[in-house]
Amino acid sequence: MSEIHWADEYVNWLQGIVPELGDAAIYLRAATELPEWMQHEGLFAWFEPGGDLKIEKLLRSRSQWAGRGHLIVFSDAWFDRPEHVQRGGLLHEITHAICSVGQSVFDLPTSEFTLEHWLLTVPGGREKLMEMRGIQERGVTDHERESHGLRFVRVGLHLAKRVWQSVSPWELQLTGALYALQDDRFLDAIKALTPELESGGNLLEILKTEAPADFAKLFDR
Ligand SMILES: [Zn+2]
Repeated sequence: MSEIHWADEYVNWLQGIVPELGDAAIYLRAATELPEWMQHEGLFAWFEPGGDLKIEKLLRSRSQWAGRGHLIVFSDAWFDRPEHVQRGGLLHEITHAICSVGQSVFDLPTSEFTLEHWLLTVPGGREKLMEMRGIQERGVTDHERESHGLRFVRVGLHLAKRVWQSVSPWELQLTGALYALQDDRFLDAIKALTPELESGGNLLEILKTEAPADFAKLFDR
C-alpha cells in the first residue's frame, strides 16, 4: 500500500467526514481499473455490494488489498465533472455503503472471509447466508429498505450537513422521479429532519431509532 493512488485524497477526505466507516477499507476505483464483467454501462458512479471480495484477488496482485471494505466505482463521466459534483457523487455512494451495514450478506464480518466467502459463490448460497444471518430480503415497497428510500435520504442528509460548506445537498442526488422522495419535497424533508440534523451523532446509532414522523410521511406517494 505504499504506492500513491489517485483516490487517496478522496479517501482521506471521507474518513474525516464519516467516522462511522471505522476500520473498513475504502476502495475508490475508476471503472477502467476493473475487469469487463464488473462494468455498468451508463452509470455515473456506483457502490458495489461485496465488491471488495469480487476484486480481492486483483487488488492483492496490485498490492492494494487493505482488508474488507467498501468498493465504489466511478465512470469516465465522473472524472470530467467539477470537484463539488464529484464529491457529491462520492457521498451519494458512501451513503449506500453506510445503509448496507447490517443489511447485506456482503456486510463486513469481523474477520477475513472463510466459509461465507465460499458460500456466496454456490448457487442458492446467498439466500442460505441471509437466512443464517437473519437478514430479510428487501421488499420493494418498503421505504426503510428501498435503495433510495427513507433510510438512504436520512443518512445522506446527515452527511450533507457535515459538508455544507463545500458541497450542496442537491449534489448528493437524494431525490428524483425514480427515487422514493420527489424533488419538490426535498426542502420539506430537510426541514422535518432539522432537529435530528442539529443533534447529529453516530449514524449507525441514529439508524436504530425511528425517523421523525413529519419526515417519514414525505415518502408516501
Ligand atoms: Zn444511488
